[in-house]
Amino acid sequence: MKLELLANTVEGRAVTGRQHFTCFVIDDCIAIDAGSLANSTTSRQKERIRDVVLTHAHLDHIAGLPLFIDDLFDVLETPVRIHGTSEVIEILENDIFNWRVYPKFSELENRNGPVLRYVEIVPGSKFKVGHLELEAINVNHKVPAVGFIVSDGDSVIALTGDTAEMDEFWTRVNALDRLDGLLIECAFPDRMKELAEVSHHLTPQLLKVELGKFKREGCPVLVVNLKPMYKRETAEEIAALGIPSVRLLIVGEEYEF
Ligand SMILES: [Zn+2]
Repeated sequence: MKLELLANTVEGRAVTGRQHFTCFVIDDCIAIDAGSLANSTTSRQKERIRDVVLTHAHLDHIAGLPLFIDDLFDVLETPVRIHGTSEVIEILENDIFNWRVYPKFSELENRNGPVLRYVEIVPGSKFKVGHLELEAINVNHKVPAVGFIVSDGDSVIALTGDTAEMDEFWTRVNALDRLDGLLIECAFPDRMKELAEVSHHLTPQLLKVELGKFKREGCPVLVVNLKPMYKRETAEEIAALGIPSVRLLIVGEEYEF
């Protein structure tokens, strides 16, 4: 399984430093979250990505979705399928694709038919998306949010999405037969613990507590979702934890699991 965190802006494939948005692309054809889906996908990815799986509906995870569908409106032969919980679908329909913020693509068709289709995912259950099997697990964010276990039938990875402390996710992940990688968030430095708690995110010290619940010796842990303004500080604190299996996920790099 190949995974890449798309850079926010790409200039001739050179990656810029600021990373506000989250959008992972797996095997060039399935997106998990859609922050930079419109502006950072290659033309090949634009041709192939028709499934977008969402952890939650915060702006940094969905910002690229309206423009991605807009860009492809005329050429879509099948709708873009947006996989999300009922809460996420409701937010998209009421607050984004509502004609006021952006066109209601769920009501529009091109010459081939619908351009957007919602597929509801239910936390705690498994579902297929293309060649992948996913399982959504409730995590602990300010809004309804899920993490995912993702398998291509060979390798298995787990992503927390945005979250604060959690238990259900660890119970499920610790019970897996196989796990090749964990992606976990860490948004703020330790001095901003209060804001992290209010907004339901992790700091390096809180990350350490969470990783204490993770019972997969040696499994690579890739840290994501560091707020760009505090990235260096947060990264230094993560490094100071001294956990050998933990490193930052590098934006724009391809990871093979
Ligand atoms: Zn969020």
